[in-house]
Amino acid sequence: MTETATLDRIAALTKRRGFVFPSSEIYGGLQATYDYGPLGVELKRLIKDDWWRAVVRDREDVVGLDASILMAARVWEVSGHVEGFNDPLVDCKKCKARFRADKLDQAVCPKKPSKKPGECGGELTEPRQFNAMFRTKVGAVEDDASTIYLRPETAQGIYVNFKSVMESTRVKIPFGIGQIGKAFRNEIVTGGHLFRMREFEQMELEFFCEPGTDDEWWKYWKNERLEWWKSLGVRASHLRIREQDDDERAHYAKACGDIEYLYPWGWDEVEGVANRTDYDLKAHQEGSGRGLAYRDEAKKEWVVPYVIEPSAGVDRCFLTLLCDAYEEEVKPNGETRTVLHLHPRLAPTQVGVFPLVRKDGMPEKAREIFERLRTIYRCFYDQGGTVGRRYSRQDEAGTPFAVTIDSQTLEDGTVTVRDRDTMAQDRVAPEALAAFLDERIRAWTPRASEA
Ligand code: ATP
Repeated sequence: MTETATLDRIAALTKRRGFVFPSSEIYGGLQATYDYGPLGVELKRLIKDDWWRAVVRDREDVVGLDASILMAARVWEVSGHVEGFNDPLVDCKKCKARFRADKLDQAVCPKKPSKKPGECGGELTEPRQFNAMFRTKVGAVEDDASTIYLRPETAQGIYVNFKSVMESTRVKIPFGIGQIGKAFRNEIVTGGHLFRMREFEQMELEFFCEPGTDDEWWKYWKNERLEWWKSLGVRASHLRIREQDDDERAHYAKACGDIEYLYPWGWDEVEGVANRTDYDLKAHQEGSGRGLAYRDEAKKEWVVPYVIEPSAGVDRCFLTLLCDAYEEEVKPNGETRTVLHLHPRLAPTQVGVFPLVRKDGMPEKAREIFERLRTIYRCFYDQGGTVGRRYSRQDEAGTPFAVTIDSQTLEDGTVTVRDRDTMAQDRVAPEALAAFLDERIRAWTPRASEA
């Protein structure tokens, strides 16, 4: 088995099998926007559900929120986004770093060992006045006062609701607020399929803690989040944490640890875990005139908490799972099969149910088994074409198990279960089928990596 994953081939598979389609494709498409097809929407939901379970529902110290995308324009003025993104910028087409055109001589290329912008071999774009936020108008009056923005991050929706959450629940510092939602950035450098989009979804946690305990919580969340990535079945050999250098960090961050994945093009960020200090809450406290502190009863004083922010992209997670799962495997007979080794817990379809042939009562028996299994697993029934073709379609869809009904099933009720990863087949009695599948799902581990 070789590491043959390339982005173009993965993108082709996502289209072929109905995971991801380029947006507005019949009109020539819209750059850096994508639509999720029948299998994709299922996988995306499973990713979000898993994050929500791990970060919000399973924890007593985190609550959830769903803030609106449109917010008062003042939020973005106070947070620094209106001003902070308004500089003339140039982008490096290779390392994707963005530099202030008026400060190029002081800028540092993040790609080591190069130092100056462009030294990594990338071409620099022409400078342009650029604000990465999308603007729109609200209401009937087309004047400046009605300009609002599509949020470029979900975090600000959490900060402005900090007080309301504290007052309406019994949470006490340290605690977190988690949120999943769309964010929009008018990226100048796009590409990498789902890696850099203009409309994407974020899964963000803002964890509020006492100043002075922030370093500890930052370490805690980096570790916690890395473990979550592994729990999705992503190979540990392809994950790492990289601390951002001082010159890479956002202005508000005291420290930032990027969780990185080894993509076909190299290591790149999948999630950032930042220590945002008390920067945002203090800014909103000043900007709104409302107190955003909590009462420290021991110290008898009001304190603005520090914030640790693990921020992951749903779409980037989706792409990461596909890159990690994708394999073009050369079979012993020399043929190549394309297979997605998705974790069985996250596979859009978990069990394919196939009658071997369309006669002798096999379809009827298969439908009976399908109806039973689909109350437990995400199932797909298919009776068209040769069973070999049906297997290979499901290999590409990442379906971990294929249950086939053949002539022996009609005699003794047993079915064959084909394993996607090993292609091995087991004969299983009908009453043992669910326990057999459950055990396989529980015991599943990622394939050994060669890279
Ligand atoms: P990058 O350096 O890759 O542009 P960033 O540091 O700007 O990312 P953050 O602002 O930290 O990203 O956003 C948190 C997460 O949101 C990222 O780790 C990524 O998973 C996701 N994300 C950010 N921008 C995009 C985008 N344009 N398309 C898809 N996902 C994105």
